[in-house]
Amino acid sequence: MRSFAHINARTIDEAIALLRRYRGRAVLNAGGTDLLSALKAECLPRYPEAVINLKTIPDLDYIREDDGSLRIGALARLSGIASSPLVGSNCRVLADAARSVAGPQIRNAATIGGNLCQDVRCWYYRYPHHIGGAIQCARKGSGPCLAVKGDNRYHAIMNGKRCFAVCPSDTAVALAALDARIHVAGPEGDRTIATIDFFSPLANALRPGEIVREIEVPKVRTSAVQTFLKFTVREPIDFAIVSVASVVTREEGVCTDARIALGAVAPGPVRAGKAEEVLKGERIDGEIAARAAEQALAGARPLSRNAYKIEIAKTLVKRGILQ
Ligand SMILES: Cc1cc2nc3c(=O)[nH]c(=O)nc-3n(C[C@H](O)[C@H](O)[C@H](O)COP(=O)(O)OP(=O)(O)OC[C@H]3O[C@@H](n4cnc5c(N)ncnc54)[C@H](O)[C@@H]3O)c2cc1C
Ligand code: SF4
Repeated sequence: MRSFAHINARTIDEAIALLRRYRGRAVLNAGGTDLLSALKAECLPRYPEAVINLKTIPDLDYIREDDGSLRIGALARLSGIASSPLVGSNCRVLADAARSVAGPQIRNAATIGGNLCQDVRCWYYRYPHHIGGAIQCARKGSGPCLAVKGDNRYHAIMNGKRCFAVCPSDTAVALAALDARIHVAGPEGDRTIATIDFFSPLANALRPGEIVREIEVPKVRTSAVQTFLKFTVREPIDFAIVSVASVVTREEGVCTDARIALGAVAPGPVRAGKAEEVLKGERIDGEIAARAAEQALAGARPLSRNAYKIEIAKTLVKRGILQ
């Protein structure tokens, strides 16, 4: 690993001022479980001159209840979210998603802010510099996307454009199904971004100098059934090939509300709006679940080697609904 300045930020404002001062030559570090491996591989488009430590900012590691919502600080650890009674009783799908991430050591260090902002896992993008030189591509700002004509078995089957890497975050999928909002602080002030709008093909929605401060999760009705399902190649530690988060409410057997999000199929979590409409007002059975699953994947446009993801996604959507 090459050397860099390491600066402990004491407040969010100080971290924002540092990002501003370094003008794109500094990166934020929270749990470090993603950033440090990218620094070791020297695969980032630009090696940072400074690493700004967010963990020294007090009061950003919290989970609290507030008038119909849970508020989760950006430095809340995934292990804390997975075991929190508040999250478990109000937004179980988020606890289950957090619990599905990696292993206990990583969950103990990784934060929700870092989980949302982690970099893509595309093997062209992550190719280490010390084995023949880092690979350039559209996401790094130079050249085409190598996955389009290359090995794209783990890449996007929906919404890819210029870059086809999928969003690796499991918590993002649960947060999308929960209609959560991401509160961001930056040099131009604070703003709020819907989870679904936080991701796009080449980068996330953060502007230069912005930092994720808090996640606001509306509480779910107690009668709703919340499910997080994840298909991986390797059990028990692996990124999703496909994941599905669903929050389905029934009254007297009839579906009154359905929220379904797909993960690892696109640059961000995808809400399956048409599938949700299929379910509303219907009694849930195998046939209606299968119809919803078809609709959820109707927009899929696979690359040369990843059409298999469509069937996995349909199966997970169906299972989630039937649970
Ligand atoms: C072996 C292994 C298995 C894994 N499996 C999974 C998995 O199954 N599912 C999954 O979702 N993830 C998985 N991960 C990824 C892991 O969850 C992430 O590394 C972790 O969540 C990142 O959190 P962090 O706090 O360590 O972030 P860091 O590594 O500190 O930061 C990651 C990125 O986010 C930025 N960042 C951090 N905090 C903020 C903030 N508040 N505002 C703005 N930007 C910020 C940093 O600048 C950096 O670019 C795995 C990782 C490993 C190593
Ligand atoms: S999918 Fe994205 S990160 Fe991967 S090679 Fe293509 S442009 Fe680069």
